Amino acid sequence: MIEARDVRLSFGQTPALRGATLTVEEGEIVAVMGPSGSGKSTLLHCLAGILVPDEGEIHFDGARIDRLDETRRSTLRRDRFGFVFQFGQLVPELTAEDNIALPLLLGGARRADAVAQARPWFARLGLDGLEQRRSGELSGGQAQRIALARALVAKPRVLFADEPTGSLDSLTGEQVMDLMVDSARAQGTTVVLVTHEARVAAYADRQVVVRDGRVHALARSAS
Ligand code: ATP
Ligand code: MG
Repeated sequence: MIEARDVRLSFGQTPALRGATLTVEEGEIVAVMGPSGSGKSTLLHCLAGILVPDEGEIHFDGARIDRLDETRRSTLRRDRFGFVFQFGQLVPELTAEDNIALPLLLGGARRADAVAQARPWFARLGLDGLEQRRSGELSGGQAQRIALARALVAKPRVLFADEPTGSLDSLTGEQVMDLMVDSARAQGTTVVLVTHEARVAAYADRQVVVRDGRVHALARSAS
């Protein structure tokens, strides 16, 4: 469904990916592990059409997305992909509700419809009563759950999560992972999850390891 084929990418003289190949099937949750600097985030950015490889191919639904121009890639990202990063990156001026509604508004939805679609996420993610808060008035775990809802509200085909629990304590991180996995499965969203924590990777259907810019298979988790 989404695939990197023999992808190479350097930042100046620094090779980040040296022939990275990864295929993720529809509905699958794949954890990408590996040491710091091994190329995990770079691989995620290539799969998500944020970076374009120097060599190799990125396929999504059978189409070469690395061949699209930046305008088309950004449309693809907005319409088909959701993103969660280590620090939620909520828009500080907006309420929690408007942060969740934002992808729908950017996609052209009417405000009333966007807010109506954002609302159920508060109950779903245990955030009732926080609708009008701004990001400065939320705990780290609350902010990350808002970021998760924002990433999923437009029902993306793929959710890209880069160290989504990296800024959270372990209990809060587990809650966020439970919600992420349950929500993704409920709407059939494929997930590419970058993490260096084995405990977080254990939520995935399959784990791979990036070392020196290449992807290695790891055992399928029991489930
Ligand atoms: P971490 O676990 O620390 O997040 P990572 O596995 O995500 O690491 P990447 O961020 O993909 O690693 O980086 C891979 C290599 O590319 C590293 O050597 C890094 O220093 C380099 N690199 C990444 N982004 C840039 C950039 N924007 N400019 C220059 N070098 C970069
Ligand atoms: Mg990284």
